Amino acid sequence: MKNEQYNRRAFLTKSAKLMGVAGVLLAGGSLISCEESMYKSYVVDKSKCTSCNRCNYVCRYGAVSLVQVYNTEGTEIISSSAYVDQKLCYKCGKCIDVCPEKAISFI
Ligand code: SF4
Ligand code: SF4
Repeated sequence: MKNEQYNRRAFLTKSAKLMGVAGVLLAGGSLISCEESMYKSYVVDKSKCTSCNRCNYVCRYGAVSLVQVYNTEGTEIISSSAYVDQKLCYKCGKCIDVCPEKAISFI
């Protein structure tokens, strides 16, 4: 299922390019190329994330989940953070818009 969704996104991106689509307009207002859209990812800065869950709530594709963050020894849970599953993400940018901590970046 995950691979199927990823392949669908890749197919749509390639089709858009073939049809002469100039790029992808992100919710924040910036225009990026079709290739950038394919290879850039939404990532969460764990040090800024307060686990408010707004990004999870707004994501229509089930790409965001809250995960536990362990200490460096892996023995103790020290916090939780949002996590973006790149295979499910359609790069709509809605999660960036709703994050009050500016913890999500597109890199
Ligand atoms: S960019 Fe869109 S699809 Fe991707 S995680 Fe954020 S809200 Fe979900
Ligand atoms: S909206 Fe921002 S602060 Fe809230 S859970 Fe998502 S990444 Fe963390």
